[in-house]
Amino acid sequence: MAHEDVIRELQAIVGPRWVLHRPEDLLAYECDGYTLERRPPLAVVQPDSTEEVSRVLRALHRRRIPFIPRGAGTGLSGGAIPQGGEVVISLTRMNRLLEVDVENQRAVVQPGHVNLHLTQKVQGHGYYYAPDPSSQYACTLGGNVAENAGGPHCLKYGVTMNHVLGLTLVLPDGEVVRLGGKAWDYPGYDLVGLVVGSEGTMGVVTEIVVRLLRRPQAVKTCLALFDTVEDASRTVSGITARGIIPAALELMDRLAIDAVEKGNFPVGYPPDIQAVLIAEVDGLAAGLDDQMERIVAVCRENNVREVRVARTDAERALWWNNRKTAFGAMGKLAPDYYVQDGVIPRSKLTEVLRRIDEISREYGLPVANVFHAGDGNLHPLVLYDRRQPGVVEKVVKAGSAILKACVDAGGTISGEHGIGIEKREDMRLVFTQADLDAQSCVREVFDPDGLANPGKLLPSPARCVDIRALPVAGAAGGAGRAG
Ligand SMILES: Cc1cc2nc3c(=O)[nH]c(=O)nc-3n(C[C@H](O)[C@H](O)[C@H](O)COP(=O)(O)OP(=O)(O)OC[C@H]3O[C@@H](n4cnc5c(N)ncnc54)[C@H](O)[C@@H]3O)c2cc1C
Repeated sequence: MAHEDVIRELQAIVGPRWVLHRPEDLLAYECDGYTLERRPPLAVVQPDSTEEVSRVLRALHRRRIPFIPRGAGTGLSGGAIPQGGEVVISLTRMNRLLEVDVENQRAVVQPGHVNLHLTQKVQGHGYYYAPDPSSQYACTLGGNVAENAGGPHCLKYGVTMNHVLGLTLVLPDGEVVRLGGKAWDYPGYDLVGLVVGSEGTMGVVTEIVVRLLRRPQAVKTCLALFDTVEDASRTVSGITARGIIPAALELMDRLAIDAVEKGNFPVGYPPDIQAVLIAEVDGLAAGLDDQMERIVAVCRENNVREVRVARTDAERALWWNNRKTAFGAMGKLAPDYYVQDGVIPRSKLTEVLRRIDEISREYGLPVANVFHAGDGNLHPLVLYDRRQPGVVEKVVKAGSAILKACVDAGGTISGEHGIGIEKREDMRLVFTQADLDAQSCVREVFDPDGLANPGKLLPSPARCVDIRALPVAGAAGGAGRAG
């Protein structure tokens, strides 16, 4: 076998049990949550420490073998899918909570730590970790950092970028660098900001310093049922226009409601409503009733059929479970779905949803809409059956047409799921070649040999002629180096 020697070296570093290389063991690593493409990796290695990651990358670098960092594999843009010949660095064993500093509202975690587990571990102290992707019960903080993950509560609290203060990053040649730290606002270039959202193209994140937030004193959630999506969309704009910033503003259209009602957490929505809006406010208990009354008033101004405020935590949890399991529930309507992740100005919601409906009819493919309406972050889900000949090509085209509609409306092509392999060509919808070349140059400072998650994020061919001609001193100017 051509790669026997590298497998042997990887086994010597992490132990034979933690290197997968038989075809049957690689099956689970052929794709992530984006299932339109699949390819097995060369091998999967499961290190247990920054030092092991560093030694693994050095071994691969010597042989110019590319690698793909991988968390839980819930990514929806194909960021962890092999393109040919890569070794997957699976971070799931590196899942420890290394430190909780309640006084300074910080925690230090390894990348394989599951998002929800962090909140569960610190809630006894009265704290939580704010970015809560709907996949939070499975996705890892390393994957969240790489994708700059968002979620329903990011309208008020911001996305992952706003909650990460420091990172330990293993560069593609095995060097370990520390970026940022536990303090606010380090001088120099914001290298943490650069790595957050870089989709594994700058190295492997092996430690993360995050902010913890104090749990709000109280939460109020309301559920509003509408006869038209337009009325629900106008309600979204009406709420924010009154200066209220809800913790969450989530919308589902009729097809999405059909799916969630067949899922594991049915709420019992009337079968003829066209849209459900969940609005949540949180903070000091004193002001919340007033805010919720104003939200309910906006719903009424926009012809809401019924609006309820949750009376118990159990009721609120049911509404959220129903919403958060929407993607999985699509399986009740079709064998396959393809989720898009476009962003638009909130004021364009009605117009863009109408265009998505047209695209659905043009391609003859049902599209369900579930979205973080407050952020203008749409998740149109194109439903299909991959067994139908030629359907996958049609699905991809419909997806691109939806993204174009978002861009035409003044939006962009990803709110939180990243670019991966899925949307790398769509990057041309929002960037000129000069922009893409500049981004490629930044990437090459970290990864001059093109080994870190190649073929992701930037369309090919990407050029970095100018910077190749320069002597590049190192990746992390101004950042502390370790190891
Ligand atoms: C049902 C469902 C609901 C979802 N809801 C949301 C949502 O509300 N908001 C949202 O933002 N996303 C959502 N997602 C998408 C996905 O969960 C997020 O993108 C998440 O951040 C991926 O984390 P992961 O651990 O699964 O990463 P993976 O899928 O394993 O990897 C994702 C990317 O990160 C890179 N990566 C992973 N770990 C590291 C590391 N340690 N160092 C460097 N690079 C790394 C990989 O190379 C890949 O490019 C959802 C997904 C599903 C399936």
